[in-house]
Amino acid sequence: TDAHLGAIEAARVLNAFVMETPDQARAMAREADAKIAKGDAGPLAGIPLGIKDLFATKGVRTTACSNILGNFVPTYESTVTSQLWRDGAVMLGKLNNDEFAMGSSNETSCFGPVGNPWRRDGSNATLVPGGSSGGSASAVAALLCMGATATDTGGSIRQPAAFTATVGIKPTYGRCSRWGVVAFASSLDQAGPIARSVRDAAMLLRSMAGHDPKDTTSVDIPVPDYEAAIGKSVKGMKIGIPREYRLDGMPAEIEKLWSEGAAWLKAAGAELVEVSLPHTKYALPAYYIVAPAEASSNLARYDGVRYGLREQGKNIIEMYENARAEGFGAEVKRRVMIGTYVLSAGYYDAYYLRAQKVRTLIKKDFEDCFAKGVDAILTPATPSAAFGIGEKGGADPVEMYLNDIFTVTVNMAGLPGIAVPAGKDGQGLPLGLQLIGRPFDEETLFSLGEVIE
Ligand code: GLN
Repeated sequence: TDAHLGAIEAARVLNAFVMETPDQARAMAREADAKIAKGDAGPLAGIPLGIKDLFATKGVRTTACSNILGNFVPTYESTVTSQLWRDGAVMLGKLNNDEFAMGSSNETSCFGPVGNPWRRDGSNATLVPGGSSGGSASAVAALLCMGATATDTGGSIRQPAAFTATVGIKPTYGRCSRWGVVAFASSLDQAGPIARSVRDAAMLLRSMAGHDPKDTTSVDIPVPDYEAAIGKSVKGMKIGIPREYRLDGMPAEIEKLWSEGAAWLKAAGAELVEVSLPHTKYALPAYYIVAPAEASSNLARYDGVRYGLREQGKNIIEMYENARAEGFGAEVKRRVMIGTYVLSAGYYDAYYLRAQKVRTLIKKDFEDCFAKGVDAILTPATPSAAFGIGEKGGADPVEMYLNDIFTVTVNMAGLPGIAVPAGKDGQGLPLGLQLIGRPFDEETLFSLGEVIE
């Protein structure tokens, strides 16, 4: 814990932590030590972790990196983090993220952008770590913590993991409790770990997962020993290679990485089959209707009265307006406007309802594929390596949204997906591959992920 606290201090330039909790960390570490001495230590005793600022932490400021929650100190702990503390983990502090987890580069945070510890060969320019869990990925990659919590609504665990050569798994929808996690799009949001290795991710997920009566969408089935899946033979497993993910104009190095990953799995005894997921091309536009629609509803609670920022006004409506105008950043406002529009009486059928139908078709594509005996699907994690701060999405937000092309389908279908570091681009930057699994079959992803890693 002391070593990591020192590393955090030395790497403040990355802006990965938005709140450091050294006193709490040392107290938790001492408690873990005492338990180890007594022989009743949990599986994560003394393991120092960073917590995305989307998870409510009792007595520790939790902001979702939004001004509107700027001074919010929860009186309760999220289920996921309380399970980590139950198992002995130590909290080093809270990690930066895109405001309300909306973004793919961690540039929309009210605390400013996060730096990626990786650099292009021969350049000192600071690159983004991806988003929205950019603080989590950067902190794990820079060895500021041994692992981190993260959340993924459309790729926010897997894309930053791919940009930083870390491992990130978004479990099946319902695997982890969403209780005490600031809501973005409730039917898509899932918590998961970002870790240094597939094994570490397996250990962390085991603690984070499990049924919670406080979240009715969390599923009441046993949590397997994920670590036992590591090193298990993948011989005879059927790996689907979806032809629709072969995009026009995809960089040759991503194409090459994808073939290499397939070859490694084949060498380990897996069988490769070409599969088709015909509705893939509608996933991104449908996601950018469903996610903002749910966000506009979830964010209605930030009225400047119940939490955080309070502004003055001549009457209550003006007070709401002033709080929301001051408290939300540009990307969040854009999502709220899109969301309210697609849910409005005249447009509901044309946009929201249609997007929901597309979502059903996307889910069915995957079901058809798994029904043919496919165990997992291999795709690139991102269409490019990390890009520079300020390089994308300035004038055209859609340019930023295109980052999520390989990841959003998984959330739309509620499936588990893991991103594993697999190689580097021509400038020495990390690239990742993604494996998509059957519902609640994270174990297969750990077994296959370890082969690629
Ligand atoms: N980049 C996507 C978005 O901005 C996904 C974010 C996430 O997974 N939280 O909506």
